[in-house]
Amino acid sequence: MKICDIRLVRVHGHIPRALYATEERQVGALDLFPEYRARTVRPPSAADLQSSDTIDAIYVHVDTDEGLTGIFGPLFEDQAYQIDRRLRPHLLGQDPIAVEHIWDVLARHDRHGRKGYMMMAISAVDIALWDIRGQAAGMPIYRLLGGPTRDAVPAYVSTLGHSLEPEKVRERALHFCALGYKAQKWFFRYGPGDGREGIERNMELVHTLRETVGEHIDLMFDAWLGWDVPFSIEMGRRMAPYHPRWLEEPVQPDRIESYARIRRETGIPIAGGEHEYTRWGFKVLLDADGVDVLQADPDWTGGISEMVKICALASAYDKQVIPHGHSVLPALHIIASQSPAVCPLLEYLVIHNQAKQWFHQETFMPENGLVRLPTKPGLGIEIDPAKVERQEELHW
Ligand SMILES: [Mg+2]
Repeated sequence: MKICDIRLVRVHGHIPRALYATEERQVGALDLFPEYRARTVRPPSAADLQSSDTIDAIYVHVDTDEGLTGIFGPLFEDQAYQIDRRLRPHLLGQDPIAVEHIWDVLARHDRHGRKGYMMMAISAVDIALWDIRGQAAGMPIYRLLGGPTRDAVPAYVSTLGHSLEPEKVRERALHFCALGYKAQKWFFRYGPGDGREGIERNMELVHTLRETVGEHIDLMFDAWLGWDVPFSIEMGRRMAPYHPRWLEEPVQPDRIESYARIRRETGIPIAGGEHEYTRWGFKVLLDADGVDVLQADPDWTGGISEMVKICALASAYDKQVIPHGHSVLPALHIIASQSPAVCPLLEYLVIHNQAKQWFHQETFMPENGLVRLPTKPGLGIEIDPAKVERQEELHW
């Protein structure tokens, strides 16, 4: 079998606003600057929630001369550009089953491509190739990887985009408990630019949640690269009596010594790595004792081939990998193929993971806190023609 074409296809449709409307944003690295800190989200009106909005998504299609096509997405446009302009010549005519060979070629072809959009492009191609492998073998990817290790995978709920008004937080936190989730992640809105008031308002969120859900539900908190070391240490010490399962990405990814210091000085578990790439990036983080939980995202860090290696590396350090949830399926296959000791949980972003699967024939959402395993050969993405109003092939 040979790869005979690579197509980047953008599909367009409409999605009900009620499915993805956001009410609040999280703190971020740019909140250092007042003009960015002032940005607010306008919560949707009742009329907004009755309306629909346009949605589009880019998928890479890897065609073979034997009629099998591997599909993966949604992709960022920058990933699609790299695939179209840079990776295509290294893929045409290659054996799609030889994923290790192709990964090595793609990772070596550009010395500036070790991280960022090029590695994200390599990830997308690798996942599409695993889709072909699975289809050729007639089984889901997790079976080829040695799974399943469970019948269904426990999910934690990520509340990105939900209001942080205490009354709404209470209502939603109880709702997620009632849906069967045993763990919830919430996103801080304030950072060092907000001074002491920011610490107090963040702590109000922590306090409200612990008081609402009690001691039997795990709570995680994400600062999305938006803090500095002093702010993180003060927040971590204040959070410690509330027993968070982890504090996520307090500072920017390359400040590995800062991660280690925050971890040491707060005594609470630290998570990170959704913006880290490849086994080599994670080895540095592990050697520095920077995190307790690795959040590699298969869609970005190097694909399924690389995720398996990151899981093996993490297990040798006795650390857990709880993949970041950019999209559901690649992480689900990985988790279902690994020991629950290494990969105990899937991240499910309530708002974003619905929109990311909007065009898919079969969607994977938690039920009673568990996500069922795919049964179709390959990855499991099939585009639903009923959702696609128009589509075009992208070329640069
Ligand atoms: Mg995060």
